[in-house]
Formats: sequence, structure tokens, C-alpha cells
Amino acid sequence: MITFYPGPSKVYPQVADYAAEAIRQGIVSLNHRSAGFMDIVKETVRLLHEKLAIPADYHIALVSSATECWEIVAQSLTAESSLHPHSGAFGKKWAEYAYRIKPPASLNEADVLCIVQNETSNGTQVNMETLAQFRRDFSSLIAVDAVSSMAGIAFDWSLADVWFASVQKCFGLPAGLAVLVYSPAALKRAEEIGENNHYNSLLFIHENFSKFQTPYTPNGLGIYMLMRVLQQVPPIAVVNTITKQRAADWYAFFAESGLSSSLALDAPAFNLLITDPSIRSETVIAVEGTEKAIKDIKTAAQQAGITLGNGYGDWKSTTFRIANFPAITDDEIGTLKQFLRSYR
Ligand SMILES: *Cc1c(COP(=O)(O)O)cnc(C)c1O
Repeated sequence: MITFYPGPSKVYPQVADYAAEAIRQGIVSLNHRSAGFMDIVKETVRLLHEKLAIPADYHIALVSSATECWEIVAQSLTAESSLHPHSGAFGKKWAEYAYRIKPPASLNEADVLCIVQNETSNGTQVNMETLAQFRRDFSSLIAVDAVSSMAGIAFDWSLADVWFASVQKCFGLPAGLAVLVYSPAALKRAEEIGENNHYNSLLFIHENFSKFQTPYTPNGLGIYMLMRVLQQVPPIAVVNTITKQRAADWYAFFAESGLSSSLALDAPAFNLLITDPSIRSETVIAVEGTEKAIKDIKTAAQQAGITLGNGYGDWKSTTFRIANFPAITDDEIGTLKQFLRSYR
């Protein structure tokens, strides 16, 4: 079975060995305040800086999920309220979570702009030019959910103060861990607000991570597997080139394959959900069709040993999604293209 599900998604096959290693070598039984464990955290943070080209002065912490990061931004970095321009289900959920913690009473005093860089639900992205425009227009903190693009494409990190991603998407790892990146300005804001009421208050997390520790017993297995995957992957500039080429190939494929035209003379069976190329995601491709066409192709793919991603949110039954994540191989992409070409 091969999977194009955009999260949880395909894990690197080597992860099976990394997990076995962590257990056989007793890494998962290390006390999380021991030198051995702290070395693993330190090396993981170093590798994140190195492989993802994260600026040296940006801090990195590891938490449990992107959803937790939404709450950390609201509780520890938002003084008044946050702004949430969004186009899809994850952006909407983030706004709902944030507003439960910081009700949107005074949006004209919003002091954090919250952007979903890659909207996994509909295959759109906020590209770096658009983010640069937000940076020019908004003088306060910018927080970016990059869950389904971090480690898949390169970012200009300086365009935001907070970036986060859980690892079950482009990192090619099992769920249960998230990477939280924050700038000196974000830390300064946290200090000004001084919020320290939670186990995951950013100040408390920061204090722990500055000693390569964590506030609570962390996902040691996940951290070890992240360290091992980071050792294995090429620098983000290389990954970025591959991801963008594959994305261009996917979009060209759907434009040319005849999937969208030859199946029926009267009505096309499948179309790209997003028609404006400037907002198309490079890591998640959403393909639209009638409910029946979508259901049928997912079933046929399953029978051919291929899992397509279901639609999500408003697009649940009228799209399927294709993850374009680094752990997926050229052979697997070839297999899916062959299936799609021959699908009738
Ligand atoms: C998957 C996803 C999330 C949720 O991640 P969790 O690890 O489940 O918290 C948030 N935002 C985006 C854009 C996602 O794709």
C-alpha cells in the first residue's frame, strides 16, 4: 500500500529502524533531565537550525502538536487579540481556538497576525511574497502555521516571529511532536506579557529548552526519531527544489493528462480545486470532482494499492488530496500517475 494522505502521511521507511534503535538502546528509558537525553534534544535543535536554515537567533522548542502551538500563541503571545485571515478549515479552527482563550473583543487592537502558510484543507498557500506584504503592512507579531509545508519548502524565516509544524506531514514522522520556532521579538513579547499560568506557557517552555529540557516528560521516542530523520535529509534548499519541481509536474499533469477533459465530452470529471496558480500549494494538491466521481476514484485507487487523501472540511466529499511530501518517492509518484492515466 502506498499513501498520498496529507497527514498523518507516509513516514520515511528508515523510521522503523530509528524506533527500534531508540528502544533497544534504552533511549526511551532515559530520564529526561539526564545528560544523555539533553544531548539528544541539543543535537535535534542544532540539526533543525542547520537543515532547515533557521536563523541562529531564532529559538526552537519541541511541543506536542500544532494545535498546542495555536494555544501557546493565544495564551503567551497575544496581549489583546489576534487576527486570523483565512481561506480554509485549519485557519478557521485556529481562530476558534484562539478566540476561546482571547475573545475577539477589540480587533482594532490586534497584536498578533495569524497566518496558515499552507492550508492543507484546500491546497492553497500564502507564498513568501504575500507574507512579505503582510510583514510590511502589520507592525506587530506574525505567527505562521506551517504544519504541512515546513521541511518541504524553504521559508524566509525573518518574515514571521513564530513558525510551527507538527511532524506527521513534511517531516515524514509519526504524529505526537511539533516544532515551535520563535524570534527574539516573540520572546520579548512573551516577557512583556509575563504569562506563566500553564505547563506550556512559552516562558516556562523557553526556560526549560534553554537547558535542553522540557517542562513535562516529553515524547522522547519522537524527538529521537526527529533527530535521526534530520541527520538523513538533505538541506532544505535541496528539498525545496525537489518539492517545487514535483509540484509543477503535478499541476502540469492535471492540466495535460486529459483526466479533466477526455473522460466525458460534456463535463470534465476532475479539475484542480484551485485555479489561481499564485496561491496553489506546493505540498498538497487538491483535485475536485462530483461526489460520485471522487468516491469512485478513491475506491479504485485503494484497490490498486494507493491511498488518496480524503477531502477535508467544506471540501470533504468533493475533492481528493495528494500529498507532495519529501518522504514520497519518485517511483510512488510514477505509480499514482500511471493509475490516474489509466483510470476510466
Ligand atoms: C494537520 C494540521 C494541523 C493540526 O496538526 P496537529 O498536529 O493535529 O495539531 C494544523 N494546521 C494545519 C495547516 C495542518 O495541516
